[in-house]
Order: sequence, then structure tokens, then C-alpha cells
Amino acid sequence: MRLAIAEINLQALAHNLAQVRQFAPNSKVMAVLKANAYGHGLVKIAQHLNDADAFAVARIDEALALRAGGLTKPIVLLEGFFHQDDLPILLANNFQAIIHDENQLIALEQAQLDAPISCWLKINTGMHRLGIAATQFEDFYQRLLATENVKNNINLMTHFSCADDISDSKTAQQIVLFDSLVIGKQQAHCLANSAGIIAWPAGHGDWVRPGLMLYGVSPMLNCTGEQHNLKPVMRLTTKVIAIRDVEAGQCVGYGGRWQSTKATKLAVVAMGYGDGYPRHAKHGTPVVIGNKRYGIAGNVSMDMISVDIGDNSDNIKVGDDVVMWGSELPVEEIAQCATTIPYELLCNITPRVSYEYL
Ligand code: PLP
Repeated sequence: MRLAIAEINLQALAHNLAQVRQFAPNSKVMAVLKANAYGHGLVKIAQHLNDADAFAVARIDEALALRAGGLTKPIVLLEGFFHQDDLPILLANNFQAIIHDENQLIALEQAQLDAPISCWLKINTGMHRLGIAATQFEDFYQRLLATENVKNNINLMTHFSCADDISDSKTAQQIVLFDSLVIGKQQAHCLANSAGIIAWPAGHGDWVRPGLMLYGVSPMLNCTGEQHNLKPVMRLTTKVIAIRDVEAGQCVGYGGRWQSTKATKLAVVAMGYGDGYPRHAKHGTPVVIGNKRYGIAGNVSMDMISVDIGDNSDNIKVGDDVVMWGSELPVEEIAQCATTIPYELLCNITPRVSYEYL
């Protein structure tokens, strides 16, 4: 019997893509599928995002896996390329490179290619991670335009650093700076990630780049996907493998970090950090058994977690299903309990977990 299962709801995925189009009706959609489609399964998810206009991944290997899976849509490489040797691969597979650094420009200028490559020029408008400085943009852009190895329809993009926080004025500043730099340039403009799509319509541009919201999860601080009419795509479940009695004062799990204050029963469930469940989920982090919430007790171990089920008046039994997150238990809430973000939880799912596509 398989224990840890990630159920992937493909109807929810389609619904979420339709929601992206509702938020940004005039923009094309570049579906972000990096990190195994945020842990949902790269090729399978791509196959069910037929309505997207393009895909985006971080690395060349991810893009090659999409091509090997038979996907033919344009693929944008968010990290761009790293070495001149990568360029023939980009060309042969019709990958679009993000150009964010002078070394890439030099590699493009020096390469011997049979045909030009499609590029996105990334401008740093305030994220200060990748991107050409605003002050160097025009010179860089002109140099790129003059490069024979680049198709002359160079698209223009930037990335938001704080769009998840509507009280932070930085996103509006980033949009104003980007607009001031690209004004008059006819090429496609692309700014918004999920938070930009949901909260910053002025940043929608010709293309949007949704990642997290496609998977039904909210990118906004202290919100759940449901609040934006999104549906969670992943439901992570497992089974109860033992029921134990614990006496008052006994300590549970590695390090004995949780001590029962009274006699209680524990359901031991087959899920741990070896499946990708967060090791730092605090005591009391909820799981759902039989439509009811219970809190975890003691440290999360590699394969197991103990759950305090009190006097077990609900008659929980070995073999019962346990939901770790899903539509009945938002992953955003579990992320808060583990002082992390839902992105990390989703893409940390390990190969030990079985996938079921529904
Ligand atoms: N665009 C870029 C450049 C990214 O790095 C990411 C993800 O981190 C996205 C878009 C998608 O972001 P989100 O998952 O918040 O929608």
C-alpha cells in the first residue's frame, strides 16, 4: 500500500489558469514551471496547461525535460544561459534566453550560430538580484540589438521584489521605473509574477508570469488562495500507521521536545521530512483526519509524525487517511506554522511521495 500521496487536481489547475486570465485579460500568459512545476510534476502539469501561451523554467535541463516530454510551446529560461556552449542547445530547442548580465552579451557577440536566438532583456528595477541596471539599460539594449546572434524583437522584462505586500510602495516604483525605460519601445513587456497579477494591475504588461497562483496558492501575505478564487492543486495525504497511549508527563519523539500534560492518545502518521514535510513545523501544526483538525506533537522525524488525538472519541484507526495540506487545510497555513513560505513546502516534496493525477 502506498502511504504518502500527492493528489494533483488538474481541474483546479485549469481553473487557476482561467483565473489568471480574469485578472490580466489583456496579457499573454507564461506559465512558470520551474522546480518540477513547484513540486507538482513538470511534464504532467505542462501537458495540462494547453491554454498557456508559453512556459518558463529556471534551467536548461528543465526546458529539455519539457521538450523530451513532447511539449512544443515556447520556453523561456528565467536564469538565461551561463556559458557560450549552451547557445546551440537554446537554438536547437527554440528556447528563449533571459539576458541579465554582460557576460551573456559577450558570449552572444562572440558565438558562431546558424540563426539568431530569441531573447528577453531583464532590467533591474529594484529587486537587485538579476538584471541590467537602469542607468546602463539603453546602451546594453542597443548593443544587444546590434548583435547578429539575437533576433531583433528583443522582449523586455523586470521582476518585482515586494509585490506580495500591498502596503509596500516599492512595486509601484518598480513599475514607474520600468515604464520610463521602455517607453516607446514596441517589444513585448513583462513584469508581473502571481502577486503582481493579483494586486498590481498597472504592472500587467503584454505578458504575465504566474507561478504560485497556478497551483492555487496565494502569494499575498496572510492570505489563502481561496480569497483570490483559486483552488489548491495539490493535496498531500498519508495514513495512520499506529495508535499509541501516552501517559501524563511522557515525552514524545526525538529530543523529547513535547511532553504530554495528561494521558492522551497519539496517531502516528507516515509522513516526515523525508517526504518533504517541514522539519520545523511547530507543535500543534494541524493535520486533518476524518474532516477534523488535530495538532502534531513532538518533532517531525524523517518518516513519521505523532498527532495528538486526545481520548480518540472520533475512533481514529490504523489505515485512516490523514491530510497534511490540501483544500481542507491550506498549505499557506502549514507554511506559517513552519515559519516558511508555501513555495518551499510545495517544491520540497521528495521522490518518495507518489503522485496521483485526478
Ligand atoms: N518570474 C520570475 C523571474 C520568477 O523567478 C518567478 C518565481 O520565483 C516567477 C516569475 C513566478 O513567481 P510566482 O510563483 O510568485 O508567481
